[in-house]
Amino acid sequence: MNNRTESTPPTNEVKGKSLSLTFAEGARSVTGANFLLEATDTTGKKEKVVRILIDVGLKQGQQFCESSNNKPFTYDAHTVDAVFFTHAHADHIGLFPKLAKEGFTGTAYATPPTSALIPVMLADSVSIIGREAAKCSQEPPYTREHIEQAMALLQPLEYKKTVVVHDTFSVTFYNAGHILGSALVLVEVWGTKILFTGDLGRTPAILLPDPEVPEVEGGIDYLITESVYGNRKHEEVSESEEALLKSVRHTTERKGTLLIPSFSLERTQIILEAFDRFIREGLIEPVPVFLDSPLATKVTEIYKLNTHYMRENLKEQFARGDDPFSFPRLKVTYTREDSKEIDETVGTKIIIAGAGMSHGGRIRSHEKTYLPDPNASLLLVGYQVPGSLGRRLQDGNKTVVIDRKKVKVRATISKTGGFSAHADRDDLVAFAEEVATKGRAHSGENPLEVFVALGETEASAFLAQRISGFLGIKTTVPQKGERFELPLMS
Ligand SMILES: [Zn+2]
Repeated sequence: MNNRTESTPPTNEVKGKSLSLTFAEGARSVTGANFLLEATDTTGKKEKVVRILIDVGLKQGQQFCESSNNKPFTYDAHTVDAVFFTHAHADHIGLFPKLAKEGFTGTAYATPPTSALIPVMLADSVSIIGREAAKCSQEPPYTREHIEQAMALLQPLEYKKTVVVHDTFSVTFYNAGHILGSALVLVEVWGTKILFTGDLGRTPAILLPDPEVPEVEGGIDYLITESVYGNRKHEEVSESEEALLKSVRHTTERKGTLLIPSFSLERTQIILEAFDRFIREGLIEPVPVFLDSPLATKVTEIYKLNTHYMRENLKEQFARGDDPFSFPRLKVTYTREDSKEIDETVGTKIIIAGAGMSHGGRIRSHEKTYLPDPNASLLLVGYQVPGSLGRRLQDGNKTVVIDRKKVKVRATISKTGGFSAHADRDDLVAFAEEVATKGRAHSGENPLEVFVALGETEASAFLAQRISGFLGIKTTVPQKGERFELPLMS
């Protein structure tokens, strides 16, 4: 890792143009993606400054009142000309209504699936935010009316279609393979090319085409990469599918209940598709599976309306009229009353419900009912943040407190990490390597420089060491709030 500020030559002043990148949030932290690019042109009669943001995400996993969610942005929202969203997870879009509330009136761009998912995800997080703010007697950062205000500014932009902002920034989305509609953002300004990964998917991705490094003449000059799993290696998908099969068979043998706390966006669809395949291939007999998550249900509907963004095999399956997210004995529950009917189903049953870390949602009431049952099992299919109920279960606690009630844990708890929608350490290094080489036909071309963000400090630092050590690429792990002048590469 180099100390970039010491080794960077001054901005190309000759042309009277300069470019800067500010990590307003999302540096040394997994959540809160919020990056500002400012292009300044002093060659005309009047200085011209154009500003774009990549993502306006919510900070998660810490006490709401101590987070930056409820503090003013570090830039003036009025002066931002456009926003580009990488994908619809709350930690990338969750403060968009606050940006509108604080005066942003430009255009926000997202791919068509992301544009469809954003209002659904915002409607879900606004109530959580409201409750959290009330706990510490604060006003929430925005309300439902600000969501409407923000949505009026949102415009869909297809992959590989370029938008030009005030004759300065040319911006194009490419598939990131993380969740439906997720995008890498390529920004070109005065001959300099900057690529933001947002969150990067695994290779191979499970439901989506693999991430695609854009082919750019002369290569990309700056890469801003995520590093959520910058220091970890995932299990293979096949190992996770084996773990899921094992849990289902164990549950069937005992005529018990299997609980799967699942994130609504992408993870739930990955699990549903796996069940569909297992049944089709005769690996399991159909048993009652309840999808007990209104949010996951809405999200799954959006997936079904956007099938052409998925992997070839899934597109073909949809084209045959076979829905990969539906299978015999799947029951989708809508109301809380429907949800209660689950308990009346005797014998083997599987319940998929949010939230993924059991920190809210309908899974908690199922956990109260079934964790004391020695014939029940619970399979954790995602990361469990320290302090969450899911983490306490993962750590093997024999008693947990749910909604102020002590609950004995006699159910079998297991976990598997291979269903992750995130690139791991090796995927991230391979991606940086491809970005460093693609499009560079001549050895004399400007080398790539990498900023490692969107990860805990340890993960970001580890990845930065790998990229600089293995690939000889200059890397920086920025601090939150840090601003960098990016020398122009024209
Ligand atoms: Zn994400």
